[in-house]
Amino acid sequence: MVKINDNYLKLKAGYLFPEINRRVKAFRFANPDAALIRLGIGDVTEPLPPACREAMKNAIDDMGTAEGFRGYGPEQGYEWLRKAIAEHDFQSRGCDVNAEEIFISDGSKCDSSNILDIFGAGNRVAVTDPVYPVYVDSNVMAGQTGKADSEGRYAGLTYLPISADNDFAAEIPSEPVDLIYLCFPNNPTGAVATKAQLKTWVEYARGNNALILFDAAYEAFIQDPDLPHSIFEVEGARECAIEFRSFSKNAGFTGTRCALTVIPKGLTGTCGQGEQIELWSLWNRRQSTKSNGVSYIVQRGAEAVYSAAGQAEVKALVSFYMKNAAIIRHGLSVSGFEFYGGQHAPYVWIKTPNGIDSWGFFDYLLNTISVVGTPGIGFGAAGEGYFRLSAFNSRENVNETMERIKCL
Ligand SMILES: *Cc1c(COP(=O)(O)O)cnc(C)c1O
Repeated sequence: MVKINDNYLKLKAGYLFPEINRRVKAFRFANPDAALIRLGIGDVTEPLPPACREAMKNAIDDMGTAEGFRGYGPEQGYEWLRKAIAEHDFQSRGCDVNAEEIFISDGSKCDSSNILDIFGAGNRVAVTDPVYPVYVDSNVMAGQTGKADSEGRYAGLTYLPISADNDFAAEIPSEPVDLIYLCFPNNPTGAVATKAQLKTWVEYARGNNALILFDAAYEAFIQDPDLPHSIFEVEGARECAIEFRSFSKNAGFTGTRCALTVIPKGLTGTCGQGEQIELWSLWNRRQSTKSNGVSYIVQRGAEAVYSAAGQAEVKALVSFYMKNAAIIRHGLSVSGFEFYGGQHAPYVWIKTPNGIDSWGFFDYLLNTISVVGTPGIGFGAAGEGYFRLSAFNSRENVNETMERIKCL
């Protein structure tokens, strides 16, 4: 008899996107001629930067020669890529992060969920509400929670509500927690953290022997030079933080797959006997056992992000989406909506008008102007009354959406 992991039965049945698809399908069936625009998906739409494509083509040619052929790569990723990352993404901003502390992987989604492999049972886990659902669901699968209540909150998790009421800045937990997931710039709210705010978290973590899991997938979208891109810009973060980064959103690698995790040397957790154990060594062990990394070709593509041409192209790509975000913000403000985000992130977080709930607003936009967005409640109970629009789309679709919104 094969026993399954019963924790999976606690998961709410992948409710959000299937439900969106169900409603869109019903709408399409009833309105076959409607010109539907989807601003709901968190996936990029623009083609890969030429520098990355060129580097990958060259890498394929390398693989076709006896001298250039590569089999299994180094477990942490190629050193040339890790060095380029350490230099450009961290050292250039004054962060004390070196190439040895970087692990290349095929995604931040997997890293931010696989990381639970190296932690024991019984850690108290804090997440914001609303939140990127991966953090919550991976904890449920790992047995770190009880069952979900009627609002979808899992027993055992500490939820830190973020809304317009607290400027989308989660308050420091009133009960002690061990693991804290933070994502800035934030998906789904588009909020961003100041250095002072991150400093408060680092101080809390150091004072309480807690660990921050910092997701910086959207750091490239930050426009204000004073805002921090990395948790390691805060002094003391090396003692209490792990950072996840990805090439998915800045360089359009969602389908190409390359990301990285930074685990500072010397960062520790406590083992059953009370001894301090280095997390870097545990993650290295975990990755070398369960992963064979990312292809040579893709790592060459990621490396090209740091070439002069690559930097210019990635900047143009980010500017393109941020211009979309500005158009969305402008359109919403002309139409009298209350909204947040979209200034340092590709997401705009709308307060639904007249107290209508998230799904009600979803149906309203779909039925009146054929526009699909994402109901805030899909990201957590405290997302009720909000709605996410994504700037990842063509300029034409974004302009057309805002024209339609004006007619509401
Ligand atoms: C898109 C996204 C990522 C990136 O995930 P990949 O697996 O690297 O594509 C990570 N975190 C958040 C919050 C995201 O929205």
